[in-house]
Amino acid sequence: MTEVAEQFTEEQPGETARITHWIDGAPVEGTSGRSGPVFNPATGVQSAAVDFATPDEVDAAVQAAKRAFESWRTVSLSRRTEIFFRIRELVHDHSDDLARLLTLEHGKVFSDAKGEVARGLEVIEFCCGIAQLIKGEHSEQASTGVDVYSIRQPLGVVGGITPFNFPAMVPMWMWAPAIACGNSFVLKPSEKDPSASMLTAGLLKEAGLPDGVFNVVHGDKVAVDAVLEHPDIAAVSFVGSTPIARYVYETGTKNGKRVQALGGAKNHMIVLPDADIAMAADAAVSAGYGSAGERCMAVSMLVAVGHAADELVGAIKERLPNVKVGDGMNPGSEMGPLVTREHRDKVASYIAKGAEEGATIVTDGRESAPNGNGFFLGVTLMDDVKPEMDVYKDEIFGPVLGVTRVETYDQAVKLVNDNPYGNGVAIFTRDGGVARQFQFDVKAGMVGVNVPIPVPVAYYSFGGWKNSLFGDLHIYGPEGIQFYTRGKVVTSRWPDPATSKVDLGFPQTR
Ligand code: NAD
Repeated sequence: MTEVAEQFTEEQPGETARITHWIDGAPVEGTSGRSGPVFNPATGVQSAAVDFATPDEVDAAVQAAKRAFESWRTVSLSRRTEIFFRIRELVHDHSDDLARLLTLEHGKVFSDAKGEVARGLEVIEFCCGIAQLIKGEHSEQASTGVDVYSIRQPLGVVGGITPFNFPAMVPMWMWAPAIACGNSFVLKPSEKDPSASMLTAGLLKEAGLPDGVFNVVHGDKVAVDAVLEHPDIAAVSFVGSTPIARYVYETGTKNGKRVQALGGAKNHMIVLPDADIAMAADAAVSAGYGSAGERCMAVSMLVAVGHAADELVGAIKERLPNVKVGDGMNPGSEMGPLVTREHRDKVASYIAKGAEEGATIVTDGRESAPNGNGFFLGVTLMDDVKPEMDVYKDEIFGPVLGVTRVETYDQAVKLVNDNPYGNGVAIFTRDGGVARQFQFDVKAGMVGVNVPIPVPVAYYSFGGWKNSLFGDLHIYGPEGIQFYTRGKVVTSRWPDPATSKVDLGFPQTR
């Protein structure tokens, strides 16, 4: 284990650690006097305080990144590839350390945290192929004696602002392609679980990434606004809730930046009457309650078509008592706590609201939460949810699965298409023709056919439609490479000086 890794993985019971920024290749203590508490959600105990950056501290990170960019953009593709292979090895070797930090600050169970790191690692592996990904095109003899070719160049300093629910993977979706393309990066991670970013920073340095290419500034709206308004930041990637995504997109673009801002979701899983109900129930429980429902691709609404409903609700209800809720570091736990006490209470309030609005509470997670001070809630199943209810309309972002009953496939698709979000969607059926029609009909960015959480593999791009994404390009994969580069087309000619003459006409091909 490296020294840097040890710094963030040693447990110090009884002590509240201080989490600093990371600027120009080193930890930098904040000077604002403002900080935020970081909790272990399983115990409810504060483990650390994270420094909140001032605009000046954000500027220091941007200036470091700006200096580093000048030389980083000249580093050859083969050298960049070599560094990325080393990053891949180090992140792989430290995946347990990263996962442990995720469990201790986010609450997700350790096996799920390892899954998060593994999916992020796939994006890093994709970026090891940067030489292939960043190629331009070449047309010889486009006109007589004239060749035309395109190149893609990095943008400069780019910023990333990330949510609490994937504290390692979502930053990897951003910094890996951005840096591989030759940009330098300023990350503003979630203030709720900031340590994974600091461990990552140490690993990138150890891999040989030059100082200043990757920087971390922690904080809240003050830091985010400083990123959005900074004249030396060329582009911003954001992942988080829809209201903030909209704000980031509007503010960033108003300040002349390229922005991709991924927002919230309300993911529907349609179960047709011909589906294998046992398989659909297993998938619904896994996708609805995994990571305590705190995934932007979590299934939150089941749409049961026709006679599938009673059997499906019965099958899910039967499975729920077996879901083991507990401390994520306990290998027996399948679902951990929610990220904060406030969020747990908000999610719990939706169970009460659902009952008030007329939904049927089949299983009430408030009754099965483990005792203690952790931010736990058990699993909740709510039947008879109607589209006009708040529990249908709002993104609850917790272990609450709703069921809406409809009679036909068309009604099910209309529900999804009328929803203001359009992140992920899934259909469970044994009918290939209907599945194919669904893929054609549905207005969402990521579609699963008998796959409840269709997060694209790293060589495709991730992104929703409608209020789940503001901007044009999806994140990571080929669109990530496009987002972090801009094109240039070179038209060149090496004429014989003897043939040179003045010609004021508009250049034409011949
Ligand atoms: P959030 O929007 O509260 O926070 C995201 C980031 O924005 C954080 O870094 C936070 O510090 C910052 N922020 C918060 N309030 C701000 C404000 N008023 N002004 C400026 N910046 C602000 O989201 P969260 O609670 O951390 O994450 C959960 C949300 O993220 C859910 O809505 C979830 O669906 C969404 N999410 C979406 C995707 C996706 O790919 N579409 C992936 C993961 C999470």
